[in-house]
Amino acid sequence: MKKRAYLGWLTLLVCLFIGSWQFIQNFYDQQVLSQHETFLQQKAELLIRLSQDYSLDTIAEQYIVNSDERVTHLNEKGDILFDTYNPSLTGTRSQRPEVKAVLQGSSKGRSVRMSPTLHKELLYVALPIKKEGKITEIIRIAEPTENFLPNAAKMKHAIFFVYSFFWIVLSVILLQVLRRRNHPIETILPVLQKMIAQPDHKETIIQSSSQWEELYQSVNTLSEQMSLTYQAYSASEKQLHTLLNELMIGVFIISEEGHLLLMNATMQEQLNSFPQKMQYPFTESITDTQLIQMIYQVTPTQPFIHEELTTTNERVLDITLRYFTESKQILGVSYDLTRIRQLEKLQKDFVGNVSHELKTPVTSLIGFTETLLDGAKDDPETLTTFLEIMQKDAYRLQGLIQEIIQLSKNAAIDYSIQTIDVATSLSQIIANYQQTIQEKQLTIEWHGETFALTTKPELFFPICKNLIENAINYSLSGQTVILSFEEKNGLVLSVQDFGMGIAKEEQTRIFERFYRVDKARTRNSGGTGLGLAIVKDYIDMLGGSIHVESHLGVGSTFTVFIPMN
Ligand code: ADP
Repeated sequence: MKKRAYLGWLTLLVCLFIGSWQFIQNFYDQQVLSQHETFLQQKAELLIRLSQDYSLDTIAEQYIVNSDERVTHLNEKGDILFDTYNPSLTGTRSQRPEVKAVLQGSSKGRSVRMSPTLHKELLYVALPIKKEGKITEIIRIAEPTENFLPNAAKMKHAIFFVYSFFWIVLSVILLQVLRRRNHPIETILPVLQKMIAQPDHKETIIQSSSQWEELYQSVNTLSEQMSLTYQAYSASEKQLHTLLNELMIGVFIISEEGHLLLMNATMQEQLNSFPQKMQYPFTESITDTQLIQMIYQVTPTQPFIHEELTTTNERVLDITLRYFTESKQILGVSYDLTRIRQLEKLQKDFVGNVSHELKTPVTSLIGFTETLLDGAKDDPETLTTFLEIMQKDAYRLQGLIQEIIQLSKNAAIDYSIQTIDVATSLSQIIANYQQTIQEKQLTIEWHGETFALTTKPELFFPICKNLIENAINYSLSGQTVILSFEEKNGLVLSVQDFGMGIAKEEQTRIFERFYRVDKARTRNSGGTGLGLAIVKDYIDMLGGSIHVESHLGVGSTFTVFIPMN
């Protein structure tokens, strides 16, 4: 129980004590006075009886010897006939309350007041002396209160002490009872408050009273169970959150009020929205209008929607929305199909391109064979020319097929690792183009100190071959091709030519499969549009990088970095 409540009870007890003491005191005083009053009345009655035989004044005088009492004899009007205090005292006392009461017909008059004659507080009792029913005289007898009140006060003190003691004992017992009655509340309340504040902590009440043992034990068990349940709940919630964040699927939950309750990391990434806080209107985090419309369409009557949509940031998402009747929440699940759709498109384009590229030399071969069979074979000169063209087409087909095969290689294949000499490898590649170099009168310049590179030759050689081949092919007659290489955690190789160059807008596209800047011209030069796509794929497989610096009409520099394996 709070201190304030105890104080309240204490104040009430003190007030009750003071009140009851006042009452007892008054009652006691009244009792004392009425006792003395009865005593004085009996004396007065005795004097009246004696006055029948003797003079009242003489008896009175005899009577008050050795006593403080005062007897006054008054006539029927209240005038003094005789007073034991001062026998010569005269005057009227008809206005004194005790005398007045008798004169007005009371059988007895009484008052406690200061005597103007004696200057003391006196208890007065006045009785009428009647003859034939009429007041003939009045006898008044008085006693100073100091004769009995001090003694009564002593007694009162004794009573006060006993009474106080009784009250103290009573108060202690009462407060103790209150404390005992409130003890479980006082003990349990803070424990319950702690349980609410830290539900994962286990609280224990040390039992001090057998009376409440069962209650305390129940609270202890409750706290233990609650902490276990909460811990299990927190653990599973953590697991669920981790799982949701690890999922490759986007997940979000919207409450009945339209507030976003949960959005996992994948969903945030898919929508390119990273809400700092949950529990806000979902439109603050989900801004894609198509998705918002979809969410609004989900109602208890249409609890399931499944659609594929393309977001503003060009992502293709397969969205499923489900309405839960019990919780009135909407669960959204999203699969990112962007890559799959891209690959599907790439595959489609690739097949289209391959068939187109294959069709050209095959059509040419069929055309020439038919012409030869139709009789052209009989002319030796035409035969040679046609066969040369057919050989070129066949080589072209072979090159194309080789490159398609190269492109179909993937990172999963375990290519062998070897240590090769960089300069030797590059000169071997150049040796294959000696004839073209001579025909175009090209100069090949070398810069760099050779070193041993540990790499996968099956990937390394096609990279260098394609870059050198392009530099030779796209150089004009008499120009120079510069090969520079250096060792920097691997190989940094740059192949520079001073040929036609590549426009800025084409530079990102040249790595796409079958992309050729000038289709007609490059096809004539034997280009397939696959070389740089192979280079890019293989560099990625080796964990390297490629950079192109080119200006139209000035030339191009392809710089590759191939890390040590
Ligand atoms: P291709 O077999 O046609 O050379 P690539 O994939 O090797 O195919 O190159 C793609 C396109 O990039 C080429 O068609 C050509 O237009 C351009 N290109 C590549 N290398 C160079 C270069 N060194 N100079 C100018 N253009 C180049």
